[in-house]
Amino acid sequence: MSNRRPLIAGNWKMHKTGKEAVEAAKALKALVAGVTSVEVMIAPTFTTLAQVSAEIATSPIALGAQNMHWEPKGAFTGEIAADMLVDAGCRYVILGHSERRQFFGETDQTVNKKIRAAVQSGLSPVFCIGESEAEREAGQTFSVLDKQIRKGLESFVLQDLQALVVAYEPVWAIGTGKTATKEQAQEVHAHLRAELGQMFGADFAQRMRILYGGSVKPSNVKELMAMPDVDGALVGGASLDPETFSQLVHYQS
Ligand code: PEP
Repeated sequence: MSNRRPLIAGNWKMHKTGKEAVEAAKALKALVAGVTSVEVMIAPTFTTLAQVSAEIATSPIALGAQNMHWEPKGAFTGEIAADMLVDAGCRYVILGHSERRQFFGETDQTVNKKIRAAVQSGLSPVFCIGESEAEREAGQTFSVLDKQIRKGLESFVLQDLQALVVAYEPVWAIGTGKTATKEQAQEVHAHLRAELGQMFGADFAQRMRILYGGSVKPSNVKELMAMPDVDGALVGGASLDPETFSQLVHYQS
């Protein structure tokens, strides 16, 4: 049994107006009140961060953002800097999500710069990696993930990464209803932990939380969380409804 505290994180993507986001946060606050064994995080849209932050201020729910720019300020129309997220109440930031990689030109290099900027501002990066269906079928899962993790964390030293969380999100399982089996998730998580151990030492790798993401729902969360190297979940669709998301948080009951 590891002493890594599980993290159940909700990625609200491009959903919910301010009113809807605050209502959902309020409902979730009541539904997860008193939960201490699991850490809970929600990542709403940029425009609703401050409102949601105020709503969850008196609760243990942590706030996360879904993306950021790596520069601290400047002429980058439409972008948001790490300190702005901190200012809005964020503790976490999701970086390198496959939708950012697929639709917005995110690369291992930009993710690397973003992780560095996040760490410098005191944010915990949730660093997403994952293989496509074609890559899995071609037997390239580990080599794709190794490249993403090595490039994403290139030139970091151990002390930079104390707050890092890795999220393994097979692209073929995101928003598709297809979930990796618990054995597939465990196999990859164990591999990633070994890889992180080679890069930064076994002690660090043992402390590091590795989340699984990809169609996590109440019907599969328990078996995934029972795997020794699965330390939590990054959840899209099933995080939008507070009742459903709270069932994920309460996976042990
Ligand atoms: C995600 O977007 O990170 C995700 C895992 O989405 P879903 O749970 O909807 O597959």
